[in-house]
Amino acid sequence: MLRLAPLLACALPALAACPPPPPPVEGPLRLTVAAPSAPAADPSDAPPADGALAATLPGDVEVFDLGLLGTSGGLTGDIVVEVASGLGALQVRVWGQPDAVVVLWRAVSPDGAAVVDDTEPSSLPETHRAFAQGFPAQVFSMNRVFASPQSGAFLVPNTPRVSAADGTWRLVVGHFTPGSEAAPTPAPLDRPVRVVVLASPVREQGSLPLNLHLTGARGLTAATAPDDSFLQDALTVIRQSYAQADIEVGPVSYQDAPVEWQVVDLVDDVCAGGELFDLLRTGAAPSLGLDLFVVEAFTCRIGPSEVGASIGGLAGGLSGPAFVQGSSHAGVVIATGFAAGSGTRLGTVAAHELGHFLGLYHTRESSVFGADPIFDEIDDTYEDAASIRDNLMFFAVEDSTTLTADQSAVLRSHPLVQ
Ligand SMILES: [Zn+2]
Repeated sequence: MLRLAPLLACALPALAACPPPPPPVEGPLRLTVAAPSAPAADPSDAPPADGALAATLPGDVEVFDLGLLGTSGGLTGDIVVEVASGLGALQVRVWGQPDAVVVLWRAVSPDGAAVVDDTEPSSLPETHRAFAQGFPAQVFSMNRVFASPQSGAFLVPNTPRVSAADGTWRLVVGHFTPGSEAAPTPAPLDRPVRVVVLASPVREQGSLPLNLHLTGARGLTAATAPDDSFLQDALTVIRQSYAQADIEVGPVSYQDAPVEWQVVDLVDDVCAGGELFDLLRTGAAPSLGLDLFVVEAFTCRIGPSEVGASIGGLAGGLSGPAFVQGSSHAGVVIATGFAAGSGTRLGTVAAHELGHFLGLYHTRESSVFGADPIFDEIDDTYEDAASIRDNLMFFAVEDSTTLTADQSAVLRSHPLVQ
């Protein structure tokens, strides 16, 4: 997510909130996933691969490959998830056509609640509609999801307000041609999508393998980075941030990335996509983990102004896909230029963007989305001016790395945390 980050005089981070009492003992992860009502799909019209899902997944994540699903009115039929025990979260992976956007259109939990809703809230301000990029119902759901170009990875639950309950979940995936200035409403696209559902068990702690990809920005290479104090300071901040969530960051691997990606040119006006996706597609690493790319800078024009230098980092997805390499969404990119020589600053940006990749939204969005603030859907990131800024996921966070207990639970539910 874009971080147009003015220098804020942040207070020192407070200690993380006390952890909640341990939950009741869960059974082992047991579930089934099927798509009995999907319209027929023409195999000759299968979407192209956007990255390869690993043949063998590490750890205890369950994989359900539903193959090609047809759509009618842009929607698959119900994907039925029967949870017997032990669910932490589902990650619904969707591959669509190259010029399409995909979205988790609806998710109904076992108690019948539409946690991802397909009905837009009434009297939504125009600024909020702009924030939602064509999918206001889904974005302003309790389990907030954004549409994603070509492929996407949708985490359910992504807030402790939604319980990962046993019982029958019903999910519907949407496939659309994105809106444009001339026709702002997305149009249904009735061509096949591929859907894979990953299921993770409940975790009270975990580890997060990190693959660093070094473009030579600031002279950093796979050979020099392990002993470079700037980069190691950044890794220390990342490790300390995620330790609050009982996530141990590591092992860390180092590999060189093509030097041509030291400067990443984003699509003007939106400051996303473009060469960001090209760079992320290069991310083959010898082992599976979260791919973190280190570049010098981004470039992006908004109107007549070049604003790239104000972008510290970008996540390829919210949430980002797990166990897939070579996808346009599989990774996080951070810019050494924005860090201005401070490894701590680089590490804070990286920890923030990794938070997006693992499923966290901003505690509060920028006021460019109107006077009515947009907050996250997490209860213990209190809607209070001081505490909401003193958080790793404040939209313009500079030096706070605080994570709350509820945010920590979301981070641990991403399948990459093992
Ligand atoms: Zn952000």
